[in-house]
Amino acid sequence: MPVMTDLPNHIGGEFRAPERDAWLDVIEPATGRPYARVADSGAADVDAAVHAARAAYPGWSGLSARDRARAIMRLADLLERDIEPLARAESIDTGKPIALARRVDIPRAIANFRFFAGASIHASGEFHDMPGEAINYTLRRPRGVAGLISPWNLPLYLLSWKIAPAIATGNTAVAKPSEVTPKTATMLAALASESGLPPGVLNIVHGRGPTAGAALVEHPLVPAISFTGSTRAGRWIAGRCGESLKRVSLELGGKNPNVIFADADLDQACETAVRAAFTNQGQICLCGSRVLVQCSAYEQVVERIAAGARGLVPGDPLEDETRFGALVSAEHLDKVQSAVESARRLGGQVLAGGRRAGPPNARCEGGCFYEPTVIAGLDPACEIEREEIFGPVVTVTPFDDEDHAVALANGTPYGLAAMLWTRDLSRAHRVAERIEAGIVWVNCWMLRDLRTPFGGTKDSGVGREGGLEALRFFTEPKNVCAKI
Ligand code: NAD
Repeated sequence: MPVMTDLPNHIGGEFRAPERDAWLDVIEPATGRPYARVADSGAADVDAAVHAARAAYPGWSGLSARDRARAIMRLADLLERDIEPLARAESIDTGKPIALARRVDIPRAIANFRFFAGASIHASGEFHDMPGEAINYTLRRPRGVAGLISPWNLPLYLLSWKIAPAIATGNTAVAKPSEVTPKTATMLAALASESGLPPGVLNIVHGRGPTAGAALVEHPLVPAISFTGSTRAGRWIAGRCGESLKRVSLELGGKNPNVIFADADLDQACETAVRAAFTNQGQICLCGSRVLVQCSAYEQVVERIAAGARGLVPGDPLEDETRFGALVSAEHLDKVQSAVESARRLGGQVLAGGRRAGPPNARCEGGCFYEPTVIAGLDPACEIEREEIFGPVVTVTPFDDEDHAVALANGTPYGLAAMLWTRDLSRAHRVAERIEAGIVWVNCWMLRDLRTPFGGTKDSGVGREGGLEALRFFTEPKNVCAKI
């Protein structure tokens, strides 16, 4: 039995128990057992964190970009020193394979801090000339205290994606990580103190969405909210921010199409389709959860994807060789299971998986394991094809030609990401342009250049993060128009 630890808030550079002394159990998904307690914060804790951030703001925003970047680089170095404990904590928190946390989540979180520290130094301003009349230059200044709210699927990575640009541009931050996976955020707070980041620049308040999260969204001293999570919570936050005229960025759900034309390199397309469907047990917003295949290649592709799914055996996330771990919680597993049952009722054929998986070893009895699942034969207009499941479930659908492929790809309320497989260069550009998504990957998946905008359209979000877009979101423009 692991030792129970407490995960308190981190406010003004100090760890603090929540004011009401209320705590939530944190469950390890691979075992179904609690291993820690996390602060169940309320409005008073959020208020204390916002005031700590507000107090740190003049000093931090008054530093040069170079000095801020130096401090953030020191934090990145400490994260790199601690990759192994961080990866272990992330695996215990989420149920993801430790190899994935080691290879992707933690290194990408470190890369975020380094990228935004560098980018904030090299950011350039804007200048507009009115010859003979005036010159205009646009200043960009931090907004103040940034409220940052993140989900459970890539806990450290998504938090760093928000914290890094917020503080690099001179804001101070109050971050509310997911209550389901709080451990790495607490470790980050400790490393921030160790790195010498001034107290109050980064505050972590744990707790549930409708209490701690909502208090952060509604706090009058927080002018900007950056949220990643479900479309449902995003809608509520957008409404609240609208009323108080806060700046808001929303990174929400997806139902991403993976479009495979018959002329594609089918070896690569099928291998990547399996990875895109099942990495992190299908719990990445960018997962390809709908595979659309041109009719002439349909049977071959479907068989290969189903075989790939059968080859992924759920394992203990803490074992080095595991490639497919546990779902994040029993509640989420129930949701995935009921989606698969609905798909069966709607006439879907389950070609692989479709059941709870047994525990891979004695330690994992009581864990949340589900088989990688492939479903064919559903009506593209049905709820299962349109709504996010956010688990290890992929559907496959045939299409005739480009127009049909585009209509299917765009046939959901979401527009986060898409993949496209073809050897025809003109078709690739043509179809990429027509698909409604924030990012279209051609003959690849999950390649990211941090300078490019990131985010979705339609119900997948509002605003864009990444690179210059994030630097813009966290700064307020002010134009100076000087007569000459
Ligand atoms: P969620 O919306 O339930 O929770 C996300 C975060 O918001 C948590 O910290 C939660 O406590 C908080 N929260 C919930 N309700 C809130 C409220 N009313 N006010 C303030 N905060 C609130 O989402 P989740 O289940 O943690 O994450 C899964 C979802 O996140 C999926 O829909 C997935 O697609 C999405 N996601 C999107 C991206 C992206 O970049 N677009 C990335 C990762 C995950």
